[in-house]
Amino acid sequence: MSKTETEQSDLGQSLRRHIERDGPLPLDAYWRAAMTTPGAGYYMGGQPIGAAGDFITAPEISQIFGEMIGLWLVEAWTQAGKPAPFALMELGPGRGQLMADILRAAKLAPDFIAAARIHLVEISPTLRQVQAEKLPDWRPIWHAGWRAAMEALEAMPLFLVANEFIDALPIRQFERTRAGWRERLVGLDDDAAFTFALAPVGDPPIGNLSLDVAGAPEGAILEWSPERQALAAALGRHLSDMDGAALLIDYGHGSAKLGDSLQALKSGKPANALKAPGRADITSHVDFHSFKRAAEVAGARAWGPIDQGVFLRNLGADARAAHLKRTATPEAAAEIARGLDRLLHPLAMGSLFKAMALLPAVYPPPAGFEA
Ligand code: SAH
Repeated sequence: MSKTETEQSDLGQSLRRHIERDGPLPLDAYWRAAMTTPGAGYYMGGQPIGAAGDFITAPEISQIFGEMIGLWLVEAWTQAGKPAPFALMELGPGRGQLMADILRAAKLAPDFIAAARIHLVEISPTLRQVQAEKLPDWRPIWHAGWRAAMEALEAMPLFLVANEFIDALPIRQFERTRAGWRERLVGLDDDAAFTFALAPVGDPPIGNLSLDVAGAPEGAILEWSPERQALAAALGRHLSDMDGAALLIDYGHGSAKLGDSLQALKSGKPANALKAPGRADITSHVDFHSFKRAAEVAGARAWGPIDQGVFLRNLGADARAAHLKRTATPEAAAEIARGLDRLLHPLAMGSLFKAMALLPAVYPPPAGFEA
């Protein structure tokens, strides 16, 4: 076994011992340990993102994605009266491509660039290194977690982007049984393999009033993420108090919904989230409805979610592609068209992925979200 494999099976062992001692873990606790344990969690070694890693993301498919978002941020900042200085923050920058494209596009507005203080929220030491190399001229400030990052901002206006970050924050799951709701905990079977166990709960701890929890059929799964809700509230509060805008793009649903969306990926292929903690990427669909409610209760206004394809089209992605193609070789032009099609087409990423914006409640709809 390589050193990394040994460390990761140690993670399995220490989680087993923990469960034997203290009983089964809520899914979010297991998930957090599998992803973030120093030295052994999935994000804490290796290089998960990109063509050679476990999955490929929108900014790596086409530069147009980041360029449109860069222009969106410049416009939101302009609408806010061009505050200076301000925090330009990205949550989970992966290999840094999105921020690189944002900054290149934003050079059209030199005053935006001059006022921006770049903050990157990244837990993975390997990815921080990759980001540093991708952004050599920008001197970003890194934070290991979103809570510390938000605290570090204090009174600064915040312009924030997050692509495929919220889906990585852990969730809890509840199952409706004949006898009522149970929480799905991670326990051990007779062979000491991780398995789901059900524990009694009262009502699931959700603030999601539009979902008919009482009428849910037997076997229904309900997902709820205290950490995602806490992030939404922190953003809502900061934006309403200090000004700014946040653009969140992720896969998920806009209305409240029952169902199991837990997913694990290893080398691009579906894997079992309970099999080998630390070796697979764990995510789940984003419940934009609940996220939006939490941000609005905290004082911001949420726009969307709308389909990623519609959002990028509204911002002029087609015109940008046409412009890029004009000076490209035929092969490069075909590549530009293919990349854009993957981002926009409803059968590719265009409709599973959604965009949502958070702004202070007093502002009109941001670019791309107008009716
Ligand atoms: N936005 C990038 C990468 C998305 S993958 C892209 O579009 O290509 C998720 C990113 O979030 C990775 O960089 C991962 O290391 C980081 N991440 C996941 N959970 C995190 C957490 N709790 N705190 C900080 N960073 C986290």
